[in-house]
This record gives sequence, C-alpha cells and structure tokens, in this order.
Amino acid sequence: MSQAPRAFHGRSLVVASHNEGKVHEICDLLTPFKIEVLSARELDLPEPIESGATFADNAKIKALSAAHSSSLPALADDSGLCVPDLGGAPGIYSARWAGTDKNFNAAMEKVHSDLDGQGITEARAHFWCSLCLGWPDGHVDVFEGQVHGTLVWPPRGRKGFGYDPMFLPDGESQTFGEMDPVRKHGLSHRARAFESLIHGCFPAR
Ligand code: IMP
Repeated sequence: MSQAPRAFHGRSLVVASHNEGKVHEICDLLTPFKIEVLSARELDLPEPIESGATFADNAKIKALSAAHSSSLPALADDSGLCVPDLGGAPGIYSARWAGTDKNFNAAMEKVHSDLDGQGITEARAHFWCSLCLGWPDGHVDVFEGQVHGTLVWPPRGRKGFGYDPMFLPDGESQTFGEMDPVRKHGLSHRARAFESLIHGCFPAR
C-alpha cells in the first residue's frame, strides 16, 4: 500500500527549475499559499543531469538535487509535449528539442515537419506534468497531470512559453499561446498536477 504524502507545514520552498516560464507559472500557482518561494537560479543551485527515463524520474532527480543543496523542501516540475503519432516524442526531450539556444520556434517546426513527413495533417497531443516535492532527507512525493488537445499549424499567439502556440486544448478556441494565463492555469497539465499536490501535501491551507 502506498504511503500518504508528507504534509508541508514550512514557510519556504525552493522551486527546482531554471526555466523562467515554469518558475513564473509555479509562483503564480503558489501565491494563495503565502509561501516564500526561492528559485534554483537565485540560490545558484547546480542543474542536475536529467538522466531519468520518465517525467517522474526526472522530477525526482531535480527535486532531490535542489533539496540536498539548499537543505529546504524543493518542488520540481518535469513536463513536456507528447505526440502519440511521433511515438510520444518529444516527451521527456521537449526542452532538448529546442537546443542550447532554447529555440522553440525550431522545436515546433520539427514537430510539424516530422508529422508532415508521415503525411499527418491533424495530430492529437497532450502535455504531461510530473511534480515532485522532495525533502533533504530523501523523501519524495510525485503528483501528475495531463491536458489533451490537438496541434495547430502555423503556431498561434505569443503568450506562454515552449510549445504553447501550437497546442489547442480540447474544447477551447484559443491555443495556450493565445490564451490569458489565468485561463491556462485553470486547465493546464501543471495546474492539474498542482491540484493533487495541494490536496496531498498542503491539506490545512
Ligand atoms: P523540462 O521539464 O525542464 O525538462 O522541460 C520541459 C519542456 O517542455 C519545456 O522547456 C517546454 O518546452 C515544454 N513544456 C512543458 N510545459 C509546457 C507548457 O505548459 N507549455 C509549453 N511547453 C511546455
């Protein structure tokens, strides 16, 4: 039987990410809980190698690395875009498809051209998020969320980050790139994983 998640009663939490878009979204989601949020970048924490085979494995690696280096509980997000027609790619390699210069226009173009190469004009996709709350003593709890939709081409909108402009969530008329951030936060993979995290680890708040 799996154990209940460990409750968080502290005041400070490290967000174990160097991705500004993600840190921003996680800070927004944590605002109601009046927690001091420190980012991995401001603490100058090392970026561990994401050598896991799954989103959950990579989230654990990042959370435990930040928790050990900072001696504080650390929240890590590992997430990405999964396209079943591409065998789940880019998946855990979503950030790496953008290269060292983080060129997401090129990454979106690669998704599009790989589908085009197979003659696929309409593809399903989902964003996946694994959130891990890791503790300095090595304890971890993982929470997951997904949002399903279709891919559009050309990309639409300049809001959000990463693959947002090519992702149209089911039941919506705007891509994540066009959508007001508050609306995205209401239905995103990260928001859904976050809901489970709050339910599991912040029960009294
Ligand atoms: P990592 O989890 O830091 O390895 O990278 C996740 C990558 O997935 C990001 O750099 C984005 O490219 C992509 N990604 C994750 N979540 C989102 C999202 O909400 N919108 C758009 N792209 C995302």
